[in-house]
Amino acid sequence: MARSINFSAGPCTLPLEVLEEARDEFLDFAGMGASVIEVSHRSPEYIAVQEDAVRAARAVAGVPDEFSVLFLQGGATLQFGMVPMNLLGGGRVGSIAITGSWSKKAASDGVHHGDLRVAWDGADEGYVRMPTEAELDLPAGARYLHICSNETIGGIRFPDWPDVATPLVVDMSSEFLARPIPWDRVDVVFGGVQKNLGPAGMAVVFVRTSILEETERNLAAYLRYDAHADKESMYNTPPVFTVWMTGKVLRWMEAKGGTAAIEREAAEKAGAVYEVIDESNGWYRSPVEPAHRSHMNIVWRLPTDELEAAFIAASKERGMMGLKGHRSVGGIRASLYAAMPSEGVDALVDLMRSFRSKHA
Ligand code: PMP
Repeated sequence: MARSINFSAGPCTLPLEVLEEARDEFLDFAGMGASVIEVSHRSPEYIAVQEDAVRAARAVAGVPDEFSVLFLQGGATLQFGMVPMNLLGGGRVGSIAITGSWSKKAASDGVHHGDLRVAWDGADEGYVRMPTEAELDLPAGARYLHICSNETIGGIRFPDWPDVATPLVVDMSSEFLARPIPWDRVDVVFGGVQKNLGPAGMAVVFVRTSILEETERNLAAYLRYDAHADKESMYNTPPVFTVWMTGKVLRWMEAKGGTAAIEREAAEKAGAVYEVIDESNGWYRSPVEPAHRSHMNIVWRLPTDELEAAFIAASKERGMMGLKGHRSVGGIRASLYAAMPSEGVDALVDLMRSFRSKHA
């Protein structure tokens, strides 16, 4: 079987060695004569899996002791509601920077659960950059500022997370654990795992443990951060397959050298693609302000829709998949997550150069 060079935005490519390990262990988990999805989540064998996944997440991201690590279902999307539900009780005010599709969704969910105000909106400019700190209109005494550190569809990222007096809540889904987290600025950081970390079905949430004393209690148990922290993400049956796979990917990331190494590799891989865009003098056109270009999701246009369709067709002939831009914006998008090998990037760069010399 030939493995595709997979540029999908999520679910997406995962490390081949991890997939092979999972295949080899699947039918007989921990010598139990059953797979991991067939045994009790209260068995010592499964509990060891979940505990090691948490340990590895801490190791990869250098999570300080003051933070709890939660594994929650509902993807990153449920966090759009859980954050305001838990943090904006008692009439507190939250704020959010709208920088593209994902923060816009977080804002539209959040307003149902508290007084969530828009600190900045990049709609007029077409979401081609992130705001500066000075542009953020933060209400006095705001409980938090929600940011999406990397907008997966628009292909923009904060070069540095805002350093403001208000604690940050960060949706880091599409660059999860691919850059160091400035822990002193954040109260909550979350990411859906189906990009850098594993199969869909879960979000990893880092919560500053001290805030659990004041989070909202008047909620269904599953929606309460404190309930999950008390039970070490075993309040109910966890998504055992996703935790098992995520643990394997986290150990793979740990062996690579954690976020610092992943960040370095990501900058190199993305840099190679941006170089081809820039050398084309506008034939390949990136709409994004250069300093805010994503290292994970690279978006660009060709001169016509026909050429874009031809580019996608040519990519398929070379064994690539997932290069079509999001349906809401069109164009081309290459997602270069942690598991994308440099050979995959070399193949893309080669296609871009030869396609341009043939059609320009
Ligand atoms: N935030 C960002 C930045 C995303 O890219 C996505 C998914 N593409 C989400 C949130 C939603 O994640 P999920 O589908 O896991 O709910």
